[in-house]
Amino acid sequence: MATIAIIGGGVSGLSAGIYAQLHGHRATVYERHAKAGGNLTGWDREGYHIDNCIHWLTGTNPVTDTYRMWQDLGVLGEVEVYQAEALYTYEEKGKRLSLSKSIDKLEADMLKLSPADKREILAFTGAVRACMRLSGIAGKANDKKSTAAQRLLALPSLVRYYSMTTGELAARFTHPLLQGFLKSILTDRFGALALIVGFATFCGGNGGIPVGSSSAMAERLTRRFLSLRGSLRLSTGVAKINLGEKGAESITLEDGSLERADYVIIATDPAVAFGKLVERRLMPKALSRQYQTFGLFRFSSVHAAFACEKKPPFKGDLIVELPRKYQRVLGGEHIILREFSHEKGFAPRGKHLVQAMVYCTEPRARGFIALYKNKKAYTAKKQQLAADIERAIEEKLPILSGALSCLDVWTPATYQKFVGSEMGSWMGFAFSSGILPTRLSARVKGVENLLLATQWLQAPGGLPIAAGGGREAIRTLLKIEEAKRAALGKRRSALPENPLPTA
Ligand SMILES: Cc1cc2nc3c(=O)[nH]c(=O)nc-3n(C[C@H](O)[C@H](O)[C@H](O)COP(=O)(O)OP(=O)(O)OC[C@H]3O[C@@H](n4cnc5c(N)ncnc54)[C@H](O)[C@@H]3O)c2cc1C
Repeated sequence: MATIAIIGGGVSGLSAGIYAQLHGHRATVYERHAKAGGNLTGWDREGYHIDNCIHWLTGTNPVTDTYRMWQDLGVLGEVEVYQAEALYTYEEKGKRLSLSKSIDKLEADMLKLSPADKREILAFTGAVRACMRLSGIAGKANDKKSTAAQRLLALPSLVRYYSMTTGELAARFTHPLLQGFLKSILTDRFGALALIVGFATFCGGNGGIPVGSSSAMAERLTRRFLSLRGSLRLSTGVAKINLGEKGAESITLEDGSLERADYVIIATDPAVAFGKLVERRLMPKALSRQYQTFGLFRFSSVHAAFACEKKPPFKGDLIVELPRKYQRVLGGEHIILREFSHEKGFAPRGKHLVQAMVYCTEPRARGFIALYKNKKAYTAKKQQLAADIERAIEEKLPILSGALSCLDVWTPATYQKFVGSEMGSWMGFAFSSGILPTRLSARVKGVENLLLATQWLQAPGGLPIAAGGGREAIRTLLKIEEAKRAALGKRRSALPENPLPTA
């Protein structure tokens, strides 16, 4: 049995801890906050519950491998999953189009809206269907994987989108509502394939929301780890990993105390790991190259949450184009609005919660982080953001005029402060056209017992990739342990049997 110190109690760290315990090892997760979950979190304000994370959880379809991982982790299985009729709705000039859970309905709605775009629509929905079959979430019972021949036939339709961004995909359509619909959910910089995978996930019944959403899911992960007798050290930041002749020998906590372990797993953002916990030069070359790779980029977002006196005129997520003046001040083309009528207890009886989010590019995110050093200016900026977002919502949805009251505002600086990510990014690398993400190794060259469990090992990150990163770190550890046992066995069998005592 190995002792394992896991630094970071987000999804990656808790997943590593759970898999370590399931395999008979002894894991301790060190989390610097008073609560585990990392970005998978929510918080209460004035009787409302603000949700930070899950728009959709990939892996809610019971026939998928990801579902089985979530079952291992205590996330799915017992809990009810909310499968919305539509993942999001895009609105422009009073007209709306929703990403329906039925690909047939989506196709029919798109064709009705813009018959002139028939060729592009059919090519696009054809690619979504092909992707559903590839990932085994299509078919009547949502469980038919494609045959080799079907996969081969699907290839040209997917290759077509590989070299396109969502912006370029949108530009192939003539109808402005279709254009906005396709480029707003992931911004126009993402690879079109990522959008197709997202649509296939939702239409394959594989992207629901476990009831209770982010905070409740983080609590279930935590409970699962503790029920397996894992040790969770909350409010315990790690300052340093101590390397010696035997590799990672111990960790130094922020209070100065030392903890020994056979293995150390880093489950934080690489910005915390390399340069703070260990020297920057130890960052695996393949990971370090990703920061410079053309087509991989990072993003963050600004948010505001509002108590709302009136029933919002939409269900789930609504995306609207921001009026020009707000695009300038808020730094994005679109605003994503969310309401939570599907969640009991997120708003007091008779009241409603509306959250707003605008994506931020890296330079803009860094601007917020720089401003944070000046508390007065940063607070003023947040107040301005709240007022601008409120006015923008009221302009787009006049029925909500006078009904909104701001509960909270948060920015890339909040994320940077909260989880330590360098520019407030909360997913891994986003990828543009011409890139097929592959999973990087969990190993750190030259230090055999130091492993990585993070969403940054595979673009674009997100909850399943973070959890998969934790599982992969433990798989790697098991291989190392097995190799050690095999080497020991060899050494033993090389010894003569019953050696005679030397005189
Ligand atoms: C607004 C928003 C929407 C999102 N929507 C979705 C979605 O719909 N679907 C989806 O799949 N994903 C979504 N995500 C992404 C998802 O939240 C992340 O992919 C995931 O939570 C990353 O988990 P992680 O454990 O890798 O990292 P983190 O969440 O960053 O966790 C790292 C942990 O390490 C801790 N830590 C850092 N430094 C130290 C230290 N020195 N010592 C001890 N502990 C330390 C931090 O406090 C933190 O708890 C969303 C995120 C946000 C913010």
